[in-house]
Amino acid sequence: MLRKYRFSFGLLLAALTFAPVVTRAQTPTPKKVFIISDLEGVDGIFNFDLQCIPFKSPLYSESRKLLAGEVNAAVEGLLEGGATQVVVYDNHYGGHNLSTLDINPKALLLSGSPVSPTLGLDSSYSAILFIGLHSMAGTKGGVLPHSFTWDIQNIWVNGKKVGEIGGRVMLAGQLGIPAIMLAGDAAACKEFQVLVPEGECAQVKTGASQTGGYSLSHAAACALIHEKARLAMEHLSQVKPYQITGPVEVKVEYTTSATPNFTLRTGVQQLDGRTWVFRGGNFIDAWLKFRSF
Ligand SMILES: [Zn+2]
Repeated sequence: MLRKYRFSFGLLLAALTFAPVVTRAQTPTPKKVFIISDLEGVDGIFNFDLQCIPFKSPLYSESRKLLAGEVNAAVEGLLEGGATQVVVYDNHYGGHNLSTLDINPKALLLSGSPVSPTLGLDSSYSAILFIGLHSMAGTKGGVLPHSFTWDIQNIWVNGKKVGEIGGRVMLAGQLGIPAIMLAGDAAACKEFQVLVPEGECAQVKTGASQTGGYSLSHAAACALIHEKARLAMEHLSQVKPYQITGPVEVKVEYTTSATPNFTLRTGVQQLDGRTWVFRGGNFIDAWLKFRSF
């Protein structure tokens, strides 16, 4: 009896000791993270013509370095926080701002355009993060605020005003992906956290006007982004995907009547000389009648 008991206890002890380790080693939970990068929200960037036009702006080569530094800081923080893979989508001005020479070797770079109507994002990702995004058109105190192009005045989704940040938060949300962090100016942080109050924000600059303001040094901005990305990844489970239930109406008001020539088809309606409405059964369906993300 004693012998039998000792034998069983040994087996039980072995099972308790080794089974969880073997299970974890064989089936690690993948945590893929998608970063969307833009340039106007990066530290030190305040002037579109001088800094943001690829290979034409006199300060563009410096801007690319600033962008790469911020993106790489985010990648490091995400990996420290538990991400298993990071894909960086270079989403400014055609997507040739980041170089494979400069990108963190642990990340995968998605460049060029188009990649897909939903930016290459799919439901296999565990989280999305924004680096260098900017506030929506017309934002008071925002640095270089705009919504996709300079001739869009306002965009509403079911009556809620959105810009590029909101569009991406909602896109990810419909795919079941939480938006966990943004790095940008104070106005972009505010815009993000209205939609995702529990999301992290690395505020790297503050606008004094649309084309001027106060910026952290590049080193300080990268240190802040690194820390916030790590925290955001560690707190991933606390952020819920932004979801809209029911049909969606996207209303877009241009600055002039010289609007793009949208095809009048089911779900597309012109309200006046510069305002269009795009309707769909869900957010992605409605938005894609307006444009890709
Ligand atoms: Zn941009």
